[in-house]
Amino acid sequence: MRVSLKPTYDQNNGWHEILPPPKEARVLTGDLVADYAVIGAGYSGLACARRLAELDPGASVILIEGGRIGNNAAGRSSGFAIDHAHNIRAKSFASDVDHAKQQVGLNRAGLDYLTETIDAFNIDCDWRLEGKYHAAASTKGEKMLDHFAESLDAIDEDYSRHDASDLKAVFGSGFYRSAVHAPHSYLVQPAALVRGLADTMPENVSVFEDSMVDDFDFGPPHVIRTARGSVKANILVLANNGFVEGFGMFTKHLIPMITWGSMTRELTDAELERLGGIDSYGIIAAHPAGTSVRRTERRILIRNIFSYSRRSTIVGRPLETAHKTHRKSFLNRYPMLADVPFEYTWGGALSLTRNGAPVFGELRDNVYGTVVHNGVGIARGTISGKLLAEKINGIDSDLRQLMEVKDRPSRNFPEPFNSWGVKMNARWRRQQAGIEE
Ligand SMILES: Cc1cc2nc3c(=O)[nH]c(=O)nc-3n(C[C@H](O)[C@H](O)[C@H](O)COP(=O)(O)OP(=O)(O)OC[C@H]3O[C@@H](n4cnc5c(N)ncnc54)[C@H](O)[C@@H]3O)c2cc1C
Repeated sequence: MRVSLKPTYDQNNGWHEILPPPKEARVLTGDLVADYAVIGAGYSGLACARRLAELDPGASVILIEGGRIGNNAAGRSSGFAIDHAHNIRAKSFASDVDHAKQQVGLNRAGLDYLTETIDAFNIDCDWRLEGKYHAAASTKGEKMLDHFAESLDAIDEDYSRHDASDLKAVFGSGFYRSAVHAPHSYLVQPAALVRGLADTMPENVSVFEDSMVDDFDFGPPHVIRTARGSVKANILVLANNGFVEGFGMFTKHLIPMITWGSMTRELTDAELERLGGIDSYGIIAAHPAGTSVRRTERRILIRNIFSYSRRSTIVGRPLETAHKTHRKSFLNRYPMLADVPFEYTWGGALSLTRNGAPVFGELRDNVYGTVVHNGVGIARGTISGKLLAEKINGIDSDLRQLMEVKDRPSRNFPEPFNSWGVKMNARWRRQQAGIEE
């Protein structure tokens, strides 16, 4: 059967482009046989392949990525490796305190696995335990921050509050009125992280890039085919995010979204002087549809806008709109850098579900999957990939039970109502974000 939905990538992803060029891709060639085939080398696939190999050192694992690792969605993210659940700003968050604490625990287990691996292999990816600032620039945003702080109190989480003058000293920018700093998240260079994870796989994992799976037959044995080769495996793992739809799975349940990032060129010494502030931080807007900001030593990154795209389109008009919006958000925050252009603007695919339920487990005979991480894919993708490998190997744990959620992704409304509703919702949320965008 043909794979009906596949990602495409351009060369605009700042995180990937500012690294030294990657070594030549090892492309899948010829007909191979393996115990496990994992499709997709984002956070889920990388963690799953590593853990399968750790648990079953005598087995062969093939990890197949359609693009270049680092230029895929995982390497396009903003690099907030977040411990809190994505919906911590939602009104209902912490209404079920135990559930909320469990979700934080799952994400922290993902961060621990990443930290262990980064430390064990000295992965050079600027992994920093710096926490994240949730910052507000409006009265509405400040109310949201108050609610956020109450939610953190309810689940016994640490944080500190900061006023405008503290924030000006940290950010250089005088844009924000107040913020909550939550200290347990990490910041990372995401393209360097995923490249490093792929380069340090156990010996029994073979990693192939530029090897898009175009065609498949479910078995077992399952057969997957690329332009130049094929793999036959008894166990197949789909870790390909929303593109799982291309394999005929959850075709009426996933909501394919694109979100966008822009990165400045390197700031000169004079511009750094004009900017002031500290040289590394991450800001998440108090409003869920607002702008995330990263400052790395010499660059600033802006992320906002969610666009609905059934074909995962990251070029043309949507890219131009993202660039224009990012520019406005940048100038609002950093007027002292008005003459500093963006060097890169890019989009990347995300997948959501209407009820927020993830896909995790055995999807059909010996076909496993872990998909939908609701915007916290660095932590959640990692832990879900690890736990999926443990499930395949029959290892149970409290954490695994937490991933085995009872809720299945709810079905989308029929088309065209679904697309229309999602687009209207995205537009409405942007309007609500106001100055926080
Ligand atoms: C601009 C942007 C900013 C973001 N910021 C953050 C952030 O700060 N923090 C955070 O936690 N999350 C963030 N995210 C979300 C995060 O990137 C995703 O949640 C995460 O990458 C999901 O991991 P994954 O492994 O499930 O899927 P992916 O990373 O999407 O990996 C799936 C892989 O499957 C591959 N694939 C798909 N189909 C095929 C096929 N047919 N053959 C071969 N390979 C295939 C894809 O190329 C892809 O590499 C952001 C996303 C974007 C786009």
